[in-house]
Amino acid sequence: MTTQVQLFINGEFVHSKSEKFIPVTNPATQEVIAQVPCTTIDEMEHAISSAKEAFLSWKETPVSERARLMMRFATLLKEHQADIADIICRELGKTVEDAKGDVWRGIEVVEQAANIPSLMMGETVENVARSIDTYSYIQPLGVCAGITPFNFPAMIPLWMFPMAIACGNTFVLKPSEQDPMTVNRIAELFAEAGAPKGVLQVVHGNKEQVDVLLHHKEIKAISFVGSVNVGQYIYKTGTDNLKRVQAFAGAKNHMVIMPDANKNQVVNALVGASVGAAGQRCMAISVAVFVGAAAEWIPDVAAAIGKVRPGVYTDPNAAYGPQISPQARARVLSLIDQGKKEGATCLLDGSGIVVEGYPNGNWVGPTVFSNVTTDMAIYKEEIFGPVLNTMTVNSLDEAIALVNSSPFGNGTAIFTASGHAARKYQHEVEVGQVGINIPIPVPLPFFSFTGWKGSFYGDQHAYGKQAVRFYTETKTITARWFEDDMAATGPNMSINLR
Ligand code: NAD
Repeated sequence: MTTQVQLFINGEFVHSKSEKFIPVTNPATQEVIAQVPCTTIDEMEHAISSAKEAFLSWKETPVSERARLMMRFATLLKEHQADIADIICRELGKTVEDAKGDVWRGIEVVEQAANIPSLMMGETVENVARSIDTYSYIQPLGVCAGITPFNFPAMIPLWMFPMAIACGNTFVLKPSEQDPMTVNRIAELFAEAGAPKGVLQVVHGNKEQVDVLLHHKEIKAISFVGSVNVGQYIYKTGTDNLKRVQAFAGAKNHMVIMPDANKNQVVNALVGASVGAAGQRCMAISVAVFVGAAAEWIPDVAAAIGKVRPGVYTDPNAAYGPQISPQARARVLSLIDQGKKEGATCLLDGSGIVVEGYPNGNWVGPTVFSNVTTDMAIYKEEIFGPVLNTMTVNSLDEAIALVNSSPFGNGTAIFTASGHAARKYQHEVEVGQVGINIPIPVPLPFFSFTGWKGSFYGDQHAYGKQAVRFYTETKTITARWFEDDMAATGPNMSINLR
């Protein structure tokens, strides 16, 4: 019998009463490893009302106690990093090291959430008028919700609920239906760390369950990470229902290579950043822009990427795993096909790859195109597979204009030995996260994850100080104290702040 993925409501793991289930498959074999329920409306209501109830006492819990919960949680996550990674390997197919990294990047956010007392400090000005002081606090919003994608089943849920809960909110999480078991294990550890019941709820499903969250009056804020179309829908519907929304969406990230860059560093960086994690990373480099003479390195880049092979997570030589689903694989293959038809040169074609012993896996081999132009589907669409487009331009200005004309703005990189070129690029490029001789510049959690343009809808970003602002409301108090009661009954009671 396949496992039924449970819901986590009001501090307990429970079987859903739903009649609708979605199979969870091992993407290397198509074996169905679990069935995930589409949470019923009653169960959704129960999760939200339990979160609302828990909020009443959780918001009164001293900030230092909330911080200690995060410290214990981080410790448990570290102790169980390998077993959480093992679940990721089975349901998503990532290599073991990649899966451990997925958990680790989440742990770093929990460590940041343990700093919540200093992150929540307000502002004070004494004597804004004679004997009058003004000070501000930040207070939690209430019940917040998170909707997460398949590609980082540990890290992205951990971007959200630890910061929200450390701020004093309670949280309803709807993880991806494609790999829902990772979050259940994380929720189990959160309860073991001492999280009071109701502070975190995990519901499963897809659009129907998300729609309940988007329309429910008790949900005050929505954090979303996923594809562009769904991100736009979440942002529009959530804000239409007067909620605070941050929606992180798709990407198409460019790496600019100047002719003065170190060739070996460029080649090594491009191998990992383009096809690593099967290209299923929102910060993957999918377009390499070679400036001037650097274009001579394109064949070497294709040759290096050609040495990389996908495989199952138990194979220590596998560089990356399968695509998440047969549909995802079919979409990547169709885009590769379209690239060839539209006139790009396919220097390395991974569409026919075979992984011995795993004929049913969703494999796509490493693929490299050259002579790509901006009107081609492989340039315009986020492929989300192990496919690198290479392009050539004559100058840094031309490269910047190309990158800035993209509707996306998640991440970018420049490889160069010139401080001037790097400074010009970081200043002029319209992208939220810039790497200088670093291909995937994901900020650590004391900064925030700051995608721009079509890669992000909202204003306050994930983790760091911006997450604290997103998950709280500011209250500003102006106070005057009289020396005795008589003074308070004097003739002029108005406060003149001018
Ligand atoms: P997705 O948009 O298909 O799904 C994301 C979540 O939305 C899931 O929980 C899913 O159940 C839900 N969902 C799907 N369709 C919905 C609908 N019509 N209405 C309401 N909810 C719906 O994304 P995915 O395929 O799981 O993830 C890959 C995408 O996520 C890529 O585009 C990638 O770039 C993006 N991503 C972005 C970032 C970032 O920080 N910008 C990070 C990781 C992934």
